[in-house]
Amino acid sequence: MDWIRLTKSGKDLTGLKGRLIEVTEEELAKHNKTDDCWICIRGLVYNVTPYMEYHPGGEGELMKAAGADGTDLFDQVHRWVNYESMLKECLVGRMALKPIALPKESTSALSEEKKCLNGMLPESKIVGTSKSFAPSYDWFQTDCSVTVVVYTKQKGMNSEMVILDYEDSRLRGEIIIRDYSYLLNIELSNAVQEDIAVHVAEKVGKVEIVLKKKDNIPWKKLGQPLESHNSFIKRTDQGLYYRKCKLISKTEVTHDTRLFCLLLPQSTHFQVPVGQHVYLKQIVTGKEVVKPYTPVSCSLQTHFKEPSCHDGACLFLMIKIYPSGLFSSELDRLQIGDYIYVSNPEGSFQKCQVQTLEDLFLLAAGTGFTPMIKLLNYVLTNVNSLWTVKLMFFNKTEDDILWRDQLEQLILQDKRFEAQFILSEPSKEWNGKRGKISSSLLSEFFKRSKQDSKVLICICGPAPFTEQGERFLKDLGYCKEEIHSFTA
Ligand code: FAD
Ligand code: NAP
Repeated sequence: MDWIRLTKSGKDLTGLKGRLIEVTEEELAKHNKTDDCWICIRGLVYNVTPYMEYHPGGEGELMKAAGADGTDLFDQVHRWVNYESMLKECLVGRMALKPIALPKESTSALSEEKKCLNGMLPESKIVGTSKSFAPSYDWFQTDCSVTVVVYTKQKGMNSEMVILDYEDSRLRGEIIIRDYSYLLNIELSNAVQEDIAVHVAEKVGKVEIVLKKKDNIPWKKLGQPLESHNSFIKRTDQGLYYRKCKLISKTEVTHDTRLFCLLLPQSTHFQVPVGQHVYLKQIVTGKEVVKPYTPVSCSLQTHFKEPSCHDGACLFLMIKIYPSGLFSSELDRLQIGDYIYVSNPEGSFQKCQVQTLEDLFLLAAGTGFTPMIKLLNYVLTNVNSLWTVKLMFFNKTEDDILWRDQLEQLILQDKRFEAQFILSEPSKEWNGKRGKISSSLLSEFFKRSKQDSKVLICICGPAPFTEQGERFLKDLGYCKEEIHSFTA
């Protein structure tokens, strides 16, 4: 808040009196001291000297990128942070472009891109991967529909890998292929209806996007390409895309935690894979703030069907409200019918990590329980090889245990599932386990069903809790591949 106040004070934070300049690499390198520090992020240069004392990670972290390009470092640590808005007043200018002699082939590819999309099979702009691996697309029409077909050249595609949005005549389709993202980004030439169908031919890797024409007239072209259209680049370089979702219900889970149900726009197609999170974005005191949250199922009962949300898909989020929390307390003020921005899903967890498991151990603290919810539903219904699922759930008090009733019901329903609640601030009446995460608590409860069983241990909670968990488990003899920590 102090930083926000300073940026709004009208003080000249760049030392350039509002001028924007072109910065050469040589110039950037000169500003590499704590009292004169410039950093480049995605081609934009910021004078971060006045921000030094406000940076939560401390001066040392910022100085790692002093006088240099900090994009990679920034992406590794917190790429969801909206630095553009936060550092707006520190913007010095752009990096000066070095003249590049374009080879003949890429010059013609660029002019090709500028042409309107007329149904040819355009090859993607490929960055850092082989051409034969890159998807391509095509389109065709009938009297009443237009179908865009993406040939991903990948077997084992599924609908979770396709994220589609249509807003203000712009069609944006992102197809996730392992660490890469293929993007369709087109201003459509004619209007279409909101209900868009997505079909995925899993075995051949073909994705069909079926658009219903608003007017049944022939289209001369699909539309105009927008930024990064037809590119196939590293997923982390694609940037997060947000759509506006409507809050349709908010229910109490515990004294400080609520289950928020958000309705996605009708034209948006996305499913959040098990173990992944999204980012929520809202304006707090005039600034954009972004925080990660892990969507959950609306129940732990494996036979429970998600309620259908009349005209679209819903996203459930279990969120703890911190009275002094910048973002969560603002979320709590949202009224039914209000809107909030939700990003594409992200995260490194892969379902294939659990497909042939025999033991799954879950280690959660507080809202660190959220990624365990979908995971529990998924493994108990889909993984046939599973013998045991054990949850160790750390909380302060009994009142803090999220979905305790549902967990106890699940213990009765499914013999493979066991849970242990451990409290750090129990009441006198509590006769269960008490204390903090420790090697002895872990080794007591997490026991393989057989000596060489295939096991995965998932950890989630406050960062120091997760780090301690990893350390204790390694000391107990679990290897790196047997441990997955949920982090941003
Ligand atoms: P801040 O303004 O950041 O902090 C204000 C005060 O709140 C702090 O002083 C502290 O007392 C308390 N506080 C804030 N953050 C934490 C914290 N992380 N741990 C302990 N105390 C804290 N939260 C959920 O409720 N549900 C989720 O599903 C969820 N998913 C997440 C997924 C990922 C990948 C990550 C990294 C975090 C997730 N979080 C989740 C945490 C969430 O992103 C925010 O950190 C949290 O909502 C607090 O934000 P805030 O702005 O309200 O608090
Ligand atoms: P909390 O109520 O403060 O704590 C829950 C339990 O964890 C308590 O028993 C607490 O013991 C213990 N604990 C807290 N900090 C610890 C530490 N440093 N070392 C050992 N034990 C510790 O937890 P919360 O407020 O719900 O916070 C949940 C956390 O999970 C947040 O940090 C959130 O960011 C994170 N989270 C991450 C993800 C993800 O995917 N990465 C998803 C959801 C949530 P004490 O009483 O001793 O503190």
